[in-house]
Amino acid sequence: MDILCPQDMALAQRMVRERVEHYIQIAEKHYKNKFPRPSIQWSLKGTTAGKANAGEEKIWFHPQLMRENFDTYLNQTVGHEVAHLVQYWEFGYENNPSHGSKWRNVMYVFRLPAKRCHNYDTSKVPTQRRAKPSQPIQLSDGSKIITLGAVRIVQL
Ligand SMILES: [Zn+2]
Repeated sequence: MDILCPQDMALAQRMVRERVEHYIQIAEKHYKNKFPRPSIQWSLKGTTAGKANAGEEKIWFHPQLMRENFDTYLNQTVGHEVAHLVQYWEFGYENNPSHGSKWRNVMYVFRLPAKRCHNYDTSKVPTQRRAKPSQPIQLSDGSKIITLGAVRIVQL
């Protein structure tokens, strides 16, 4: 698919920033309101493609998923996250679940399908490996000790 080479990453991140601005301007026009400009963090890892916090005026993006799915990321994920900011800035937090009717309303204003989940291939994204429990160590008082990663679980 559309995998960007690392040299394109700076440009791609700029395009994402411009897309954020684009959607905020659409929202300002539609709702006849002024909205803040969120700060953008590129720190997401794992399977979450994007995250937004309206109170902190922040959006988090996922550099690897953006790089591996650039077109869809730019068209879907960016608008999805900006819509979360706008739904709270415009409608407040009360009776406003994160993918509820107010969020869908903003997505409609953005002319984007109100899709909750992404379908990026996350098989190449490093996730925290689940530690395998060790063989139980039998103690003389009948209890067993199982080590799970760095955590020691005592089973009685
Ligand atoms: Zn969402």
